[in-house]
Amino acid sequence: MKKIILVRYGEIILKGQNRPVFEAKLANNIKWALYGLGGINVTRSQGRIYIEPLKEDYDFDAAFKRLKKVFGIVSFSPVWEVGSDIDEIKKHSVDIVKDMLERGVFQKQKTGERQKVKFKVETKRGNKRFPMKSPEISAEIGGYLLGNIPLLTVDVNDPDFILYVEVREHTYIYSEIIPANGGLPVGTSGKALLLLSGGIDSPVAGWMMAKRGIEIDAIHFHSYPYTSERAKEKVIELARILSEYCQKINLYIVPFTEIQLAINDNCPHEQLTIIMRRAMMKIAEQIAKSTGSLALITGESLGQVASQTIQSLAVTNAAVEMPVFRPLIGMDKNEVIDIARRIDTYETSILPYEDCCTVFVAKHPNTRPQLKKIQDSESKLNLDEMIKTAIENTEKIEITRKYTGN
Ligand code: ATP
Ligand code: MG
Repeated sequence: MKKIILVRYGEIILKGQNRPVFEAKLANNIKWALYGLGGINVTRSQGRIYIEPLKEDYDFDAAFKRLKKVFGIVSFSPVWEVGSDIDEIKKHSVDIVKDMLERGVFQKQKTGERQKVKFKVETKRGNKRFPMKSPEISAEIGGYLLGNIPLLTVDVNDPDFILYVEVREHTYIYSEIIPANGGLPVGTSGKALLLLSGGIDSPVAGWMMAKRGIEIDAIHFHSYPYTSERAKEKVIELARILSEYCQKINLYIVPFTEIQLAINDNCPHEQLTIIMRRAMMKIAEQIAKSTGSLALITGESLGQVASQTIQSLAVTNAAVEMPVFRPLIGMDKNEVIDIARRIDTYETSILPYEDCCTVFVAKHPNTRPQLKKIQDSESKLNLDEMIKTAIENTEKIEITRKYTGN
């Protein structure tokens, strides 16, 4: 008997030509995620992926934590692979269920009640040469479990657990189904550049697009000394957390002080934010173009602040030609926070920091900017030259996922 992991992935994309690309990418991303835990064989068969560890003491719990972060996986299960022989299947089923009971997988046991644990067996027979039919196999195994584990009782309508038995060339036995995030494997939808601040929203926006298969690079605008070294470290840490989902992130740190001071000194104050945001978009677009990104991603959400009204977003958008993805546009802050908590960015995002958007902030920002007026103000700045200098002095940091404490 050996313990392996069965991985299930979505069906929708699997129609047509995309299927092999999708599957190969997912298998590769799984290997990447599990790297360092010990050798594994990854095989694909009948719309599933099987992960077989090559060493005895493989750390399955660590592997499960990592697999939950691989987009494209809908769910996975620890599975025991045994020979397709009814006596062998029965004997191992007892061992497996006893082990689960000992590990206290069931709530009732934890509360100390000496109630029976209800179960049923569900069999799928892929191997038609196997001499028994599915219902017979289920009944046989169920009866054997009852005879060997007094705590059990059969309840097909409301079981505490289902023992799944899949009879193929080998037989696979499992009970736990661990949900993952679904989505598409990172790298199957091209690359985009995430405008990453130190706030709550932008890491969530990046995560949501990575979930749709996008490979993420990130760009951060840093206004040293108005924003501190600590603010930069925080963004690096956020990119690191995201990289556990997206493997590798190139983070571009753009020196933004000169541009901000110029805007601050030369433009009407109610226009500060919008002109600054347009400058960010222009720089981001240029870096995206030169590094293979096909779109920009921001954490903007409609109406959240003055720069996120429809009019402001339109004026911001007009600064660039590239598509701008705003996955949070229709979400409430609470919904964003829920995701931030779930993906582990929240605690880092709420650490105190200064963002360049908040350092130079107008008392009464314009919520209905007009493109023409904004462009007039911009024409008084030597913006192209300053953007060129900022890009030349941009620092690139390569961030790859490293798991801390598994
Ligand atoms: P966040 O929580 O992501 O900071 P926010 O609600 O604070 O967003 P803004 O500060 O107006 O909103 O920023 C809107 C978006 O602009 C951010 O989600 C992010 O994508 C981008 N952005 C803002 N500041 C920066 C920065 N310093 N570097 C890179 N991108 C930024
Ligand atoms: Mg912000």
